[in-house]
Amino acid sequence: MQYQDQYDVIVVGGGHAGTEAALAAARQGVKTLLLTQNIETLGQMSCNPAIGGIGKGHLVKEIDALGGIMAKAADRAGIQFRILNASKGPAVRATRAQADRIRYRAAIRAVLESQPNLYLFQQAVDDLIVENNRVAGVVTQSGLRFGAKTVVLTVGTFLGGVIHIGLQRHQGGRAGDPASVALAERLRALPFRVDRLKTGTPPRIATSSIDFSQLAEQPGDTPTPVFSFLGKREHHPQQISCYITHTNDKTHEVIRNNLDRSPMYSGEIEGIGPRYCPSIEDKVVRFADRNSHQIFLEPEGLDCNEVYPNGISTSLPFDVQYEIVRSMKGLENAHITRPGYAIEYDFFDPRDLTPWLETKHMPGLFFAGQINGTTGYEEAAAQGLIAGLNAGLQARELEPWYPRRDEAYIGVLIDDLITSGTKEPYRMFTSRAEYRLMLREDNADSRLTPIGRQLGIVDDERWAIFSAKLEAIEAENTRLNTTRVSADKIDQQRAISVLGEPLAKSSTAIELLRRPSVDYQGLMKLLDEEQSVADDVAEQVMIQVKYAGYINRQQNEVNRLQRNESTTLPADLDYKNVRGLSNEVREKLQNAKPQSLGQAARISGVTPAAVSLLLVHLKRSG
Ligand code: FAD
Repeated sequence: MQYQDQYDVIVVGGGHAGTEAALAAARQGVKTLLLTQNIETLGQMSCNPAIGGIGKGHLVKEIDALGGIMAKAADRAGIQFRILNASKGPAVRATRAQADRIRYRAAIRAVLESQPNLYLFQQAVDDLIVENNRVAGVVTQSGLRFGAKTVVLTVGTFLGGVIHIGLQRHQGGRAGDPASVALAERLRALPFRVDRLKTGTPPRIATSSIDFSQLAEQPGDTPTPVFSFLGKREHHPQQISCYITHTNDKTHEVIRNNLDRSPMYSGEIEGIGPRYCPSIEDKVVRFADRNSHQIFLEPEGLDCNEVYPNGISTSLPFDVQYEIVRSMKGLENAHITRPGYAIEYDFFDPRDLTPWLETKHMPGLFFAGQINGTTGYEEAAAQGLIAGLNAGLQARELEPWYPRRDEAYIGVLIDDLITSGTKEPYRMFTSRAEYRLMLREDNADSRLTPIGRQLGIVDDERWAIFSAKLEAIEAENTRLNTTRVSADKIDQQRAISVLGEPLAKSSTAIELLRRPSVDYQGLMKLLDEEQSVADDVAEQVMIQVKYAGYINRQQNEVNRLQRNESTTLPADLDYKNVRGLSNEVREKLQNAKPQSLGQAARISGVTPAAVSLLLVHLKRSG
């Protein structure tokens, strides 16, 4: 008898997208299987050992607010934490954690192994089972068949992966792991639009061979930031510093002299690489006027002897990598433990996906992560959570859910991908969001946790903590609104020290907090009180008061645009029948098949006039 097993949801791939997808499905209570090439590499960071940063930190907080694992694992594994843009407004502040690679993997695995309804199985998937044009399961390398109502593919850089070091190339999914060749062929036979992208990683260096005494130290922030809304500083392991060195004239000369041996410049690599994470050879060519670039030396972990030199990702041959590394201060005697390399892989045009990440050509099949043309752990995890959530919802015969652009960076990410597609690895930035003031890291929980709770992916512990925080914010708001500060009674010396001038007329505490010069701590001083609420509650009260005007303005704009968002466009709409559209716009709409008028309006080249024509057509056709 042939072995066969049946699940509600199968997730293929145990990277950042796959682990969030599997957990989001299993948290809903559906029977879920996570099938991956190697259980040892669950949650493996293929490249830099860090989580978060500008735009990416926002995604991590949103994943956390929806009950995901990334922020919690970063808290357990983080060995250096910083708030980037700390001196700027709250919209662009972002948390970043340097992570201990081994601890990160262990934290992810521990959660996966203790998640009810989730089963792990180690084996590569080679094929899909398809019944009546709907996915019905997967077949592994050794012919085992697993049936499922829905399948989520999250196979990262592995599809048809080719690794390049100089002009040498070999098949691989990433260093040390095999490429997915059979699955890539199977998927290429389906009517998905496929193309190639590339990404790269730097060589790693033995910590003991670096002369840190010559280098600038970069410690983490104090007090140490925490990633998860449920996180605590006590969860962090020992904290250590990063160091900074620089490329110099000699480094750049070595690179320029060897460009003909680079697979990128010799035409060996066809895939397009990440614009915002370029290789060092790319940086030297593109920014020819600069004779130095900053390189961060980031420890790979507490118990290992390896450093990740952030900024010298390269696919040049090993002997050139060696010269590059040794040309830099502090690295004169560096020993390289692993060569850098570039990898080319298949990705699928995300315009062939619905906003809940189901493929348009095969019902029940979802794609998430790097295979949708993104780069980065956080971007992958965010998509994984949405795909896993919706694979579970579909298995439960419930309606799909996805966040809008004004609700979450995750909404911006998915809408950008499915509306515009991508020609290069897509990464998140705060500048991609139009409603930045509403989409802050600090309010990700109030934006998303209630929805996550309704959908069944937020557990009781998170819900209780969130509800208590919300009540505390409300109570403090009410208290400060009803606390009157009398100009006659206040100690005017104290008022001058906080306000910069005497208090001329009596005010409520909230009115005083609205003043630009007064922060929450200043207000407490003015009231002659000890802070009685938690720091995150005080922060929310302060931000809500100070930015109320701007936030309301953004909300009005959102409400106005919402009308377009809620006007749906039928999937079978034939744009040839819409009168007045230019051929170019018609073709773009036919290709993208937008779900709503709002999405149509965001397709480049679709003018406001074209949107009006669509609206007229919809009204006319009833
Ligand atoms: P992955 O993390 O790649 O996980 C894929 C998972 O699928 C793995 O567990 C794998 O074992 C499994 N798998 C594959 N095929 C099968 C199969 N057939 N059956 C079962 N399981 C399978 N990101 C950046 O932000 N900046 C960078 O500079 C950067 N550089 C990178 C350089 C390199 C060389 C690589 C490899 C990656 C780089 N990344 C970078 C990307 C980052 O690693 C990915 O964005 C992220 O890991 C994607 O997550 P994912 O879950 O989509 O895929």
